[in-house]
Amino acid sequence: MNLKNFTWSVDSDGIALLTWDMKDKSMNVIDVSVGEDLNAAIDAAVADPAVKGVVITSGKETFSGGADLTMLDQMGKTLAASAKAKGPEAAMVDFFEQSRQFSLVIRKLETCGKPFVAAINGMCLGGAFEITLGCHARIASDNPKLRVGLPEVKVGLFPGAGGTQRVPRMVNTQDALQMLLKGDQLKADRAKAMGLIDDIVPAATLIEAAKARLKAGVDPKKAWDKDKFRLPSGPIYSAAGMMVWPAANAIYRRETYDNFPGARAILKCVYEGLQVPMDTALRIESRYFANVLRSPQAQAMIRSLFVSMGALGKGLRRPAGVPASQLKTIGVLGAGFMGAGIAYVSAQAGFDVVLIDRDQEAADKGKAHSQKLMTDQVNKGRATSAQRDALLGKITATPDYAALANVDLVIEAVFEDPAVKADVIKRAEAAIRPEVVFASNTSTLPITGLAQNSVRPDQFIGIHFFSPVDRMMLVETIMAEKTGDKALAVALDYIKAIKKTPIVVNDTRGFYVNRCVGNYIKEAHLMVMEGVPPVMIDNLAKQAGMPVGPLTLNDEVAIDLGLKILKATKLQVGTQAVDPQQEKLLTFLVEQEGRIGKKAKKGFYDYPDNAKKTIWPGLKAFVGSQQDPDEINRQEIIDRLLVTTALEAARCVEEGVVTDPREADVGSILGFGFAPWSGGTLSYIDMTGTKAFVAKCDALAAKFGDRFAPNKLLRDMAAAGETFYGRMNKTKAAA
Ligand code: NAD
Repeated sequence: MNLKNFTWSVDSDGIALLTWDMKDKSMNVIDVSVGEDLNAAIDAAVADPAVKGVVITSGKETFSGGADLTMLDQMGKTLAASAKAKGPEAAMVDFFEQSRQFSLVIRKLETCGKPFVAAINGMCLGGAFEITLGCHARIASDNPKLRVGLPEVKVGLFPGAGGTQRVPRMVNTQDALQMLLKGDQLKADRAKAMGLIDDIVPAATLIEAAKARLKAGVDPKKAWDKDKFRLPSGPIYSAAGMMVWPAANAIYRRETYDNFPGARAILKCVYEGLQVPMDTALRIESRYFANVLRSPQAQAMIRSLFVSMGALGKGLRRPAGVPASQLKTIGVLGAGFMGAGIAYVSAQAGFDVVLIDRDQEAADKGKAHSQKLMTDQVNKGRATSAQRDALLGKITATPDYAALANVDLVIEAVFEDPAVKADVIKRAEAAIRPEVVFASNTSTLPITGLAQNSVRPDQFIGIHFFSPVDRMMLVETIMAEKTGDKALAVALDYIKAIKKTPIVVNDTRGFYVNRCVGNYIKEAHLMVMEGVPPVMIDNLAKQAGMPVGPLTLNDEVAIDLGLKILKATKLQVGTQAVDPQQEKLLTFLVEQEGRIGKKAKKGFYDYPDNAKKTIWPGLKAFVGSQQDPDEINRQEIIDRLLVTTALEAARCVEEGVVTDPREADVGSILGFGFAPWSGGTLSYIDMTGTKAFVAKCDALAAKFGDRFAPNKLLRDMAAAGETFYGRMNKTKAAA
């Protein structure tokens, strides 16, 4: 048999071993040829009477991460092209058939009459897990890194190769829905407890155990293909079903606000599919899958959350020709809130760290942060105390700048004060080797200005982390006027080593991410001043798809920080740069009421110990009167929040702050969770349609003021019928 991605051998007991081991790939991924190979292997097993059963395993360290999403991305694009050529209906028929091929292969495996056992040796996700669910038994190795799951919902899709039908026929509806809607990855013991895996065996005996199971006899007919099959939770239209479904619908809406077609399809597939026999159920699933796959939301999410994020992580923006950086030791200046986090993630990545603060006590305090985070990990069983000690051994906390003599990269995170930063830059540059790159983690000071304190401005760059550093995946890299390629390459090599996703932007006040999120929060402040009930603002933001409402977010990042930035902007840019209503609100909260945010347990909300936050009643008294919630146009609130944020991204493009739409989108989702269903700020505009977006801006500007006035770039694009992805890709191709 001629297989491209698998090897096939049959032992003397008539048990075939089908080993998935793709050439030239470090991991197995599902593409069209994998489906073809599987199909051929099933045919071979059926045709050969000597084959009693088949064990499917992987020749890689992991089983497989699932489908090649770039293939699905491509399928969506092909559909659009073929709709133009053949007409939408014929194109959709082809698309439907094409998108269910893999599901049909798995069904063929399930019903071919020969037993298949999956021997899962490592991580097995998405379509790969769906292959194993089609098998007649699943044995997992005791590999601690093994995870199984169906995470498709996280990129806007859902399991479309039988996952939504087999899981709820194997486990109770509640657990099945939770697993499918959350996209959780399960450890082997949890999967076994749920009934998704039959056995866990030592890694060395995995194949042997799978073969032994086949020899002992595995029924090649699934329970649901036999008469009298009973669903684990009973029929949908039963007393038990009525306990589950109304609640499931409510939870789904609470968690997603119905923003994600993929999540909605899961609920529908399970509900409809459990009422019909398996083949019909799979056809229902396929119909939803084809529809979701071609939805703008799924297309945008796959593009941003998988394709673009992957490309950025692999070094899309790294200048070619600069040799790989040899980084061993990182110097971190300032062991405060951010510096302590940067030291931790650097040590986690295996770097030695020199952590400097003004005195030993402050430096030690920064190191204690790593001790705390690692101790938490130890307590949760995720790390050993030896690992904690090893990590702490990597961090040298000291006030002595001379300790920077051997560092390979410096990141400063001292007070946000130009004079303090200038002093630190001078002292550090006097201690480090001449070729070492200096990075600033400032969040508001333009890097070009800071670089004027440096004797080697070409080696000066911004590396802007987000808090909390250990959890936020984005790092914004800022090019100052004179920053050179080497500094950029070093910064990107470092960010890759700490396993975060970089975007590269050009220097401006607030850079990219904070400019956008600043608008989001400012709009909420202005709404408060207009008398929109504050809780309604936060709730509608969540309905728009934002993970955290703007007022809650402001409490979390600190209101006094916002006021400080406002004052600095007024001083440096001018009074016109600040909205007086916003200034009035923040001054009242911070200077009159001491309500600086969650850190003080009082901001827009009160944060009582051991109880949920509640909105501060004083806000209503300050504003005077509040609007009647029933009279408020909710869609308008949602539009204002999304439009003001996306509009700022469009301004950043026009000003050359952002040069690639993929960075704008990924930065907005990873930086502050901009409505992930949209694919990010620029995808949101593209999805709305530039013309419609400009019309929305104009309508909002007429009602709420010039801050909504679309910029020239948007007007030009609307007139020319352009999208950001179309236009910016064209510019790149021409360059
Ligand atoms: P912080 O006040 O918690 O920490 C600053 C630390 O710098 C303090 O420990 C202080 O003792 C130390 N320091 C001051 N002068 C020093 C000197 N001369 N030498 C050595 N250490 C010195 O502040 P932070 O929130 O960690 O912010 C630090 C930087 O990170 C700022 O530039 C800020 O804009 C930026 N930043 C902050 C956030 C955030 O969410 N807080 C996010 C991104 C970036």
